[in-house]
Amino acid sequence: MEPKSRFLKVKCTDCENEQVIFGCASNTVSCLVCGRTLAEPAGGKAIIKTQIIEVLE
Ligand SMILES: [Zn+2]
Repeated sequence: MEPKSRFLKVKCTDCENEQVIFGCASNTVSCLVCGRTLAEPAGGKAIIKTQIIEVLE
């Protein structure tokens, strides 16, 4: 069963920037402040590589 597409609020573990990203990102998502990789695509959903603060339905 595929989870619904949803957005995640994450915090960059390097610079503490908070950013909303798409949970099914098809591209690598980088921190807008420091450029750290926050999520990488993997078969239709994203592997989150940083701290998730909140899941936004
Ligand atoms: Zn950052």
